[in-house]
Amino acid sequence: MRVSTLLRRLIGVSGLVVEGVRFEDGVMVVGVKPRRRKARCAQCGRVRPGYDRLRARRWRHLGVGSLRIELEYAPRRVSCARCGGVRVEAVTWAAHASNFTYDFEELVAYLTQVTDKTQVTQLMGIAWSTVGAIVRRVVERKLDPDLLEGLRCIGVDEFGYKKRHNYLTIVVDHDRQRVVWTAKGHDSATFRAFFETLGPERCKQIECVTMDLAPAFIKVAQDSAPQAQIVFDRFHVQRLASDALDEVRREQLRELRGTPEGRELFRSRFALLKNPWNLSSTESERLSNVQRANVPLYRAYLLKETLAKALDYRQPLRARRALTQWLAWASRSRLAPFVRAARTVRKHFDGILAYVRERLTNAFVEGMNNRIRMIAHRAYGFHDHLALRAMIFLCCSGIALKPPLP
Ligand SMILES: [Zn+2]
Repeated sequence: MRVSTLLRRLIGVSGLVVEGVRFEDGVMVVGVKPRRRKARCAQCGRVRPGYDRLRARRWRHLGVGSLRIELEYAPRRVSCARCGGVRVEAVTWAAHASNFTYDFEELVAYLTQVTDKTQVTQLMGIAWSTVGAIVRRVVERKLDPDLLEGLRCIGVDEFGYKKRHNYLTIVVDHDRQRVVWTAKGHDSATFRAFFETLGPERCKQIECVTMDLAPAFIKVAQDSAPQAQIVFDRFHVQRLASDALDEVRREQLRELRGTPEGRELFRSRFALLKNPWNLSSTESERLSNVQRANVPLYRAYLLKETLAKALDYRQPLRARRALTQWLAWASRSRLAPFVRAARTVRKHFDGILAYVRERLTNAFVEGMNNRIRMIAHRAYGFHDHLALRAMIFLCCSGIALKPPLP
């Protein structure tokens, strides 16, 4: 076997010719050139007349063992009338303006999907900000261009990051269980931009929209897809009750400040907010203390639990009855936060019952939320919402990567 053939096999990139190899500071520098003779414009991809040649530059490629490999080539420049002037030529092994080969970028993106920041930067020997740029390019290449086609059941949610100083609006496709759209911001204009991107034809195909009880989103969905059933997912409805319970607890805490009862109450927060079957024995004990000593707070706790139970029903009629009973109870509970919560539930009664009928797996939306939270945490170093968006698409939009592994 000829050495150049061996090297080409070792590099594993098609469409290039190996011209030579040398070692420089422990790096194997492989001189290459594109197999095709005619230069193409990197911007539009068309064959263009040559203009001049730039100095040799390098692209980091996948290493072999502990050996770092870089490809070297002096790219030509072409004069492209279409792109308006002199442009650098396209190379077959790397994206325009990248210092890494496609294979290297794909492996980085793959690792970013499956492992954490420290692992990726250490394994690949690149900075985290570089990972951000690579992820953006890979997503641009690999993201399914038909994400917005055939949407039937969608969900919208806002996502706060950087201590909730910034927000993204995220739209998911319930049928295919993937994120299909994101944008910065969380007001009605942001969500309206989604429907504008979708266009009138695709808006008409939407049958249901799940969301939280944010009035801004409700109005936009009603305007843009009037035929769609709005579904309030139970996760958000239950949060109404949890928030009300927390408010009652804080009120009681204010009244009991400095007393032993107050201190005991302070410790009960998690016992009150957790699901009863998840309580530790200490937490159970705290809960029964609340039951004995603090009647209004225990009433609030039962209200929270009863709402969850009403949403557990699988038959719409039963759920309707349970929810109606809950409304009556909450309204005359003499707990102001629950009276308010009941008002909200009554206002959105149909959409809340629609959840029981449609039974959209909110486990998926919740799971997605947790996943995005994790991603946002990792993307923290990026300082850029576009990088965060790219990370979300990379990990939640069904991008399947096949990095060249042995
Ligand atoms: Zn061009």
